[in-house]
Amino acid sequence: MAKEYTLSIIKPDGVERNLVGKIVSQFEAQGLTVAGIKKIQLSKKAAESFYGEHRERGFFGELVDFMVRSPVVVIALHGEGAIQKNRDTMGATNPAQAAEGTIRKLYSKSIGENTVHGSDSVQASAREVGFFFAASELV
Ligand code: GDP
Repeated sequence: MAKEYTLSIIKPDGVERNLVGKIVSQFEAQGLTVAGIKKIQLSKKAAESFYGEHRERGFFGELVDFMVRSPVVVIALHGEGAIQKNRDTMGATNPAQAAEGTIRKLYSKSIGENTVHGSDSVQASAREVGFFFAASELV
């Protein structure tokens, strides 16, 4: 399996509850490494652009408001099968349906405040890693 980069975001509900270390540990336990990491405050414009594919969905406004509520931690993960490993470690979008041991099962309170984002395809990973990191920042 090829080595890939993928994007994780620890959303405001995760950062507010000081879960950054616990979440990064779960990725590292899957053999993924942190190639880049930073804590940022998303602007409304950036959140709307990042989640642009969901613009027509009923929850879009709620999603953007949530993502700008307080800082997030953006992480470029690297490793073999990183995209799928990240998704598997996160668990299902709705925490009520997430598998035991996944980040969302352990920590998320609702489908809206579901603690982590993860790129879902090769194309999305390239766009999303590039959204937050310059190539020179991936080490
Ligand atoms: P993901 O790839 O598992 O994050 O899920 P999606 O791409 O389908 O949705 C993107 C994000 O939109 C989710 O992680 C949630 O934060 C949010 N979202 C999805 N469905 C709902 C919903 O029904 N209500 C609310 N408030 N947010 C939602």
